[in-house]
Amino acid sequence: MWIDTHCHLDASEFGGRSLEVADAATHADVSGIVIPAVHRTNFDVVAQLAERHQACFYALGIHPMYVPTSDEKDLIDLRNRVALLMDDPQRSRRFVAIGEIGLDYFVPALTQSPLREKQEYFYTEQLKIARDFDLPVLLHVRRSQDMILKHLRRFRLVGGIAHAFNGSVQQAGHFVDLGFKLGFGGAMTYTRALQIRRLATDLPLDAIVLETDAPDIPPSWDAHGINRPAALPRIGAVLSELRGMSISDIALATTVNAKAILPRMNG
Ligand code: ZN
Repeated sequence: MWIDTHCHLDASEFGGRSLEVADAATHADVSGIVIPAVHRTNFDVVAQLAERHQACFYALGIHPMYVPTSDEKDLIDLRNRVALLMDDPQRSRRFVAIGEIGLDYFVPALTQSPLREKQEYFYTEQLKIARDFDLPVLLHVRRSQDMILKHLRRFRLVGGIAHAFNGSVQQAGHFVDLGFKLGFGGAMTYTRALQIRRLATDLPLDAIVLETDAPDIPPSWDAHGINRPAALPRIGAVLSELRGMSISDIALATTVNAKAILPRMNG
């Protein structure tokens, strides 16, 4: 049994067949799929997918790439939705985190004023929502490790996942010290990804969760295809090879880690 801790199951690449994609994952022994939101316009979509498929869970948040088309009203809407959900255990059964939130300093337009400041504002305002409701966060961290960490130290959350982790050993250690897990996926399957493979090999196993980031970051055996949550077990097999452990031990450990950091998945 495996858990895909980061999958954009509502993406247009799946051509409206998201539920079939989730079924295929279930048949491949992926029993949990976490679908992060990226923008207010997909909050309802991810929630409905999670309601309609037994393997699916969701998070709500505004992704840094969608900050340019978001405004203060969206942050208020997010906070109100989360407050309503947390008041209604039945309705919020499938809601597990705030995400996908973070900072992207790779896309040039987002690194310049005023978007640089706007990104930081959206990131910190959403950290406050996570803190106020004791929720974990799903983090998008691209060339922004130190700034992400700086704010995590200020807000002291219950934890979360640094998704598609691609930092240094030292930065990884800082996330772990703050109670975070690091997400590994398709990037780890490329032999040229030396740093990511080294981290996946050497980090304490209890710091690692698996993800596909589908439809993005396809694994090496399907480098030009559309990534799918059903690919997770084979990605997990790469981790088992790197660490010299059995596939079943890797499946068990990463599942335990995912449920520990996203405790609402336990129902
Ligand atoms: Zn994502």
